[in-house]
Amino acid sequence: MIKKLTIFGVGLIGGSLALSLKKASYCEQIVGCSRSEAHLQRAVELGVIDDYTLDPVAAVEGADIVLLAVPIRAIPPILKTIVPHLGANTIVTDAGSAKGSVLAAAKEAYDGVLPPNFVAGHPIAGREKSSVEAAIDDLYVDHKVILTPTSETSSEAVLKIKEMWQITGATVETLAVKQHDDVLAATSHLPHVLAYSFVNTLSKSEYGDAVFDYTAGGFASFSRTASSDPVMWRDICLDNKTAILSVLDNFQKDLTELRNTIQNEDADEIEQLFAKAKATRDSII
Ligand code: NAD
Repeated sequence: MIKKLTIFGVGLIGGSLALSLKKASYCEQIVGCSRSEAHLQRAVELGVIDDYTLDPVAAVEGADIVLLAVPIRAIPPILKTIVPHLGANTIVTDAGSAKGSVLAAAKEAYDGVLPPNFVAGHPIAGREKSSVEAAIDDLYVDHKVILTPTSETSSEAVLKIKEMWQITGATVETLAVKQHDDVLAATSHLPHVLAYSFVNTLSKSEYGDAVFDYTAGGFASFSRTASSDPVMWRDICLDNKTAILSVLDNFQKDLTELRNTIQNEDADEIEQLFAKAKATRDSII
């Protein structure tokens, strides 16, 4: 139980956390802060937050926990503004999809030294819908949340953030920052990049938009993530560039290999490649 949680960015991720914690009566007060007053008013109307302010400094006053749930390139300026005004015991955490860049921004905001009370985090749950309207109270149930504490992070702060996420029904794990960014580049960032690219390729069809008249489940499931927020995914691509380029290079090699087997009509090899992928997917989902 905490007194005050401040959320920067009351959208899908911040809003869903707020709803879940409210259901569990974990916070006496949840305050939202963002650029858009209309969005914050809507969040109050929907019962997601108790109050809001457009002033970041007022927002963090007396906060036990501050969550940054904005697109990751919006995190550095917010940190720079709030860090001088944080209470000694306030814990700052985030929900950003890449962790190396967020920790670098935090280090810069704290004059080159990561403080014990900064706990970087990433809920591995989401949907292609954005904004507070899409927030739901069970988004994190049976999902993982990854924390990437460093040697500077206090174990009490990690435990507090772990407790907060566990209240939502999530399982909390810790990973090294590089491992997080490499693994998520492969499991989440690559499929989003592919989905955006796939839909754009189809848009250039010689049959024009008519090509979309003949879509079914295959198109819907493969392209679902292309409906995700472009600003959020722009930021993730820029901030996790190295890991994403590395996994894209591997993917391009594998795609070329598959293309060659089709060109050569190598039936056995095509079947083997598909059977291997099917066995892997069937074993995990
Ligand atoms: P969202 O678009 O639903 O919400 C983002 C919120 O941030 C909005 O309320 C918006 O008004 C606000 N905002 C945007 N720019 C801002 C700025 N410069 N200053 C202050 N507020 C600003 O996005 P979301 O899906 O909730 O994603 C939030 C964060 O969570 C991102 O960093 C994303 O990488 C991460 N994340 C998203 C998912 C997902 O599937 N959507 C999953 C895990 C983590």
